[in-house]
Amino acid sequence: MAYSQAERAFELTVEYAKQREAFGQKIGNFQAIRHKFAAMATKLEAAKQLTYSTAWRFQQGDYAVREATMAKLFATQIACEVADECIQIHGGYGYTREFKVERAYRDLRLHRIGAGTDEIMLEVIGRSYGF
Ligand SMILES: Cc1cc2nc3c(=O)[nH]c(=O)nc-3n(C[C@H](O)[C@H](O)[C@H](O)COP(=O)(O)OP(=O)(O)OC[C@H]3O[C@@H](n4cnc5c(N)ncnc54)[C@H](O)[C@@H]3O)c2cc1C
Repeated sequence: MAYSQAERAFELTVEYAKQREAFGQKIGNFQAIRHKFAAMATKLEAAKQLTYSTAWRFQQGDYAVREATMAKLFATQIACEVADECIQIHGGYGYTREFKVERAYRDLRLHRIGAGTDEIMLEVIGRSYGF
């Protein structure tokens, strides 16, 4: 849920950055903005791969509690970071309800609380090392 919602916000923001102009050019042409997309895409891919590989292990009969917890923690934090950057790239419009990234930001924030908070995920991972 987390990374797929964030991916949608990413896609919407790519479209926006290809249309929005500032200082006579599309904002996506600014290196600073392009690098934000590169960083977001890398984080999303990492979150997705961790989730997929853990799901695969579960499918093989491995009860991978530590990795499932890591995947939940990581994907939800990354998703919030991505949604935050998407709003930043939208500028003032990103803060308004007319643009879907605002909704994505609010909705994604839940995932760091619901179904186990970040702090509880860290607790589960930490305890898995015998502490
Ligand atoms: C929109 C929404 C939908 C929800 N849907 C469901 C649902 O469908 N089913 C369901 O069962 N629940 C649902 N919840 C509840 C959700 O699972 C809880 O909000 C969540 O588990 C946190 O519990 P709490 O709100 O009581 O916070 P608290 O337990 O009061 O925690 C407050 C803070 O203290 C931290 N904390 C608590 N204990 C520890 C600890 N031992 N170590 C370190 N830090 C700690 C927490 O991480 C958090 O930061 C939903 C919540 C929301 C907001």
